[in-house]
Amino acid sequence: MINFNRFLRFLLPALLAAAGLSAAPPDEKPLLGFGRAPAAEQRALEARFDAQLRADNLRDWMKRLTARPHHVGSPYGKENAEFIASQFKSWGYDTSIEEFRVLFPTPKSRLLEMTAPTSFKASLAEPPLKEDATSGQTDEQLPVYNAYSVDGDVAGELVYVNFGIPKDYEELERRGIDVKGKIVIARYYGSWRGIKPKVAAEHGAIGCIIYSDPHEDGYFQGDVYPKGAFRNPRGAQRGSVADMPLYPGDPLTPGIGATEDAKRLPIKDAPTLTKIPVLPISYEDALPLLQAMSGPVAPESWRGSLPITYHLGPGSAKVRLKLEFDWKLVPCYNVIARLAGSERPNQWVLRGNHHDAWVNGADDPISGLVTVMEEARAIGELAKTGWRPRRTLVFCAWDGEEPGLLGSTEWVEAHAAELKEHAVAYVNSDSNSRGFLRVSGSHSLERLVNQAAFDVTDPQKKITVAERLRAFRLTRGSAEEQKEARDRAEFRIGALGSGSDYTAFLDHLGVASLDLRFGGESGGGSYHSIYDSFDHYTRFGDPGFEYGISLVQTAGRIVLRLANAESLPFEFTASADAIGGYAREVAKLADDLREETEKRNRLIREGRYEAAADPRETFIVPKPHEAVPYLNFAPLQNAVSRLKHGAQEHDQARRAIDLSGKAAAEVDVILFRSERALAGDGLPRRPWFKHLIYAPGFYTGYGVKTLPGVREAIEERKWPEAAAQIEATSAAIERYAAQIEKATELLKAPSKN
Ligand SMILES: [Zn+2]
Repeated sequence: MINFNRFLRFLLPALLAAAGLSAAPPDEKPLLGFGRAPAAEQRALEARFDAQLRADNLRDWMKRLTARPHHVGSPYGKENAEFIASQFKSWGYDTSIEEFRVLFPTPKSRLLEMTAPTSFKASLAEPPLKEDATSGQTDEQLPVYNAYSVDGDVAGELVYVNFGIPKDYEELERRGIDVKGKIVIARYYGSWRGIKPKVAAEHGAIGCIIYSDPHEDGYFQGDVYPKGAFRNPRGAQRGSVADMPLYPGDPLTPGIGATEDAKRLPIKDAPTLTKIPVLPISYEDALPLLQAMSGPVAPESWRGSLPITYHLGPGSAKVRLKLEFDWKLVPCYNVIARLAGSERPNQWVLRGNHHDAWVNGADDPISGLVTVMEEARAIGELAKTGWRPRRTLVFCAWDGEEPGLLGSTEWVEAHAAELKEHAVAYVNSDSNSRGFLRVSGSHSLERLVNQAAFDVTDPQKKITVAERLRAFRLTRGSAEEQKEARDRAEFRIGALGSGSDYTAFLDHLGVASLDLRFGGESGGGSYHSIYDSFDHYTRFGDPGFEYGISLVQTAGRIVLRLANAESLPFEFTASADAIGGYAREVAKLADDLREETEKRNRLIREGRYEAAADPRETFIVPKPHEAVPYLNFAPLQNAVSRLKHGAQEHDQARRAIDLSGKAAAEVDVILFRSERALAGDGLPRRPWFKHLIYAPGFYTGYGVKTLPGVREAIEERKWPEAAAQIEATSAAIERYAAQIEKATELLKAPSKN
């Protein structure tokens, strides 16, 4: 029989602790990396931090920073950088503007016209609206274009390629449609936009038009601007089309900082520029083109929400696309503000958000930037009372994010050696709006994120932002998310691919990184258009800046705890769990592909495709694939098993040991450098990407590929490469496990004090 008193007092906490849970109510739960009394001190500090926060600051700064267009290289972009720097200085930070020189082409001329069956000239313009005060600043607005498209003057028949990703071309091939010598028209979404011209060019297309279909981005989603938040018929999406999955940053200086005297590639040799001209257009401009197309009717899942029958082409519709750019170098101004740490000044906690926009950029990026500023201001106020963070804080306001993560990538490349040595973690944000907490990043920080999220109150529902996220996942998540939200005490954070300024820190250097923001309830539609304005944001984004304050509170806690903890708040159980999951996924991917290949080859052999095809339509029987071999995943499984064991032992040890009596600094260095162990020599065909656990997909761009080397080799049926990548990835996980084991040994060693 169980002695219930004993069970409750001793056994239950031990069981829960082993499961990574705790029986203590949240307010008594010691914060990771703090002993019990210092945890109380830390909470007192955070209460003082919260007491500083003013939503009006967010509103005032947004008004100021979005008053004029401020893309990289623009006069107002420079004014903004100087304003941000002056603010940081006034709050007591040691502040500088670090300048780089980056390639930033802007249009000299743009022409898109249909020459047959009728003539039509695309307007390529977003009209000013009387309801939107800054939308009429046409002199300073960048026109609608895709940055790093090459110059070109091409004419040809149109082919509709859906999202323009590799599997869409397989579908076209089965219908006997070839894009060679044609101009493709693709809709936005389904991949990062730069993938569309990349894949089109690989298939022989000579030009690429990308349009916003109202199905994904317009009236199908909700009322359009200015009545509602969504994209109106003439709204269009600017954006970069550089081949960022190859490397982000300045196209002319891969791997090195784009300083004044940096050695640059000739523009014609820059591999990340597109191979064909590309232009984004609105759905009002796209409608006549799509309407004029002939050829087979598009498959059902390819159809958008325009009032037409979608045809694939080629044939009747012919267009001319003529683009010419000014290929200039422009200054890129990063604002870097430091507050030196009192005890471990050589350990840097970095926090950043970009300041440049495509146009006025209230949502993207100013809604995030103003929260970072408020965070820095409140910390500056604490510092004025004599408090100092234990570690050095570095606040960064990046320039040139929009064209290709230019400012952050160049800064990271220029400071790579120091950052490898000193960077504890990088915490990023970008756009922020009403809704749910969204966090992705290094899983070694998952527990830290959870502890912060359970301490912040959701402004609308008055429950913690963590519980609100749980409610979202329980009611609207996938089946797996629902199950986890029930069974797991803490929420899982997502894996980071690319898409904002954490990329160089995480993927190139192996600095543990987080990206966090609120969102999901604001209604999009202004993204990268002239309507991403103060007026739009304060109606639809986060009118009272309440979620701005929630972000300051959440990120502020994460940053303050990283900066102040006696021993860095890294834990590894979640990391081992996540990596174990990725390893299972790639093994399953190979099995599924084997099964699918066998099935398909059999259907081809038996002539079933041919028998089922409509004789009045073109159908080309697909070619059989080579059978999928059995890969040896044992090294990966062994590495994961070692990591799981080591992680559990480490996390238990650090909870059991009073860290204040330890030489915590020594453990710290191992902890924060552990993420570096997951970086290797670089991924096949793109060595800039070093991290072997996370990368943007080579053919998806923003969607993260976990265990990218292994996963992409399998997806692309490159078997020797898959085997080599299993070895390289396993070795990285073994190195990571070894670091964690070393930290545990130090933790358990008799106190040196
Ligand atoms: Zn952004």
